[in-house]
Amino acid sequence: MGTAPIATPCTIPTSIGADVVVVGAGSFVVDALPAATARLAAFGLRLAVPSTIVIDDDVSSFVAATGQTTPTRRAWSTWNTVHLLPPSTWADNTPAAADKRIAHELCHLALWQALGTKAQAEAAHLPRFVVEGVCSVVADQGSSRLPKDQVLALLQTGRRLDFDDDSAFAYGLAHHVFAALLACRGPRELQRIVDVVAAGAAVQEALGSSPSRWLEEGCP
Ligand SMILES: [Zn+2]
Repeated sequence: MGTAPIATPCTIPTSIGADVVVVGAGSFVVDALPAATARLAAFGLRLAVPSTIVIDDDVSSFVAATGQTTPTRRAWSTWNTVHLLPPSTWADNTPAAADKRIAHELCHLALWQALGTKAQAEAAHLPRFVVEGVCSVVADQGSSRLPKDQVLALLQTGRRLDFDDDSAFAYGLAHHVFAALLACRGPRELQRIVDVVAAGAAVQEALGSSPSRWLEEGCP
C-alpha cells in the first residue's frame, strides 16, 4: 500500500459529484478513491458537497478529533468529514481493504448528504442498522463480516444489537440483511429503504420482513 507522503490538503475531483479533500498521510486514500467512488456510482450514490477525509496520526489524535473511544474503531464519519486511523493500525491493510473502507465511509456521507443539510441529516436519525448495512454492502465487505449462518444462530438466541460493544454480530447482521435485500430486489432498493426510514418508518416496516426471515429465506 502506498505510504509516500503527499502534500495535503489535496483536493481530488470525483466521478460522483463533489470533490474529496484529503488531509494528512493519505496517499493510500488517493490510490483508493477511483475504486471506492466506482462502488458508490454503481448504487447511484453521490457526494452533494465537498467532503474531507482526514488521516489522524494516532489513536490519541483520532479520539481528540472524534470523541470516539471504542478501541476497535478505525474510522468515524460525520455529514461531510471522515476521520481515519492509519492503515498500519488496521487488521487488514491491503489496497483492496482500503478501497472498501473508503467506499464504506464515503457511502455514509452520501446517504446523509442526500437528506439535505447537516441539520436535516441529523434530524432524520437514520438507524445505524440501516446505514451500516447499506454501506457494508455498497463496499462489498461481506468477506470481513461474521458468516451468515453464525449471525443467524446468534440472532435466534435473542442476541441484542449493539454496534459498539458487540460489533461483529451487529455489523454481520446488518450486512447480511442488506445483502439479501440487494440480491432479492436490486441496487436501487437500498436507497429506497433509507428514504422510507428517513421519512419515519420503522426498520422492519421498511424491510417488509424481520431480519431473521431475510437471512433464512433470502427473498421473503
Ligand atoms: Zn460504517
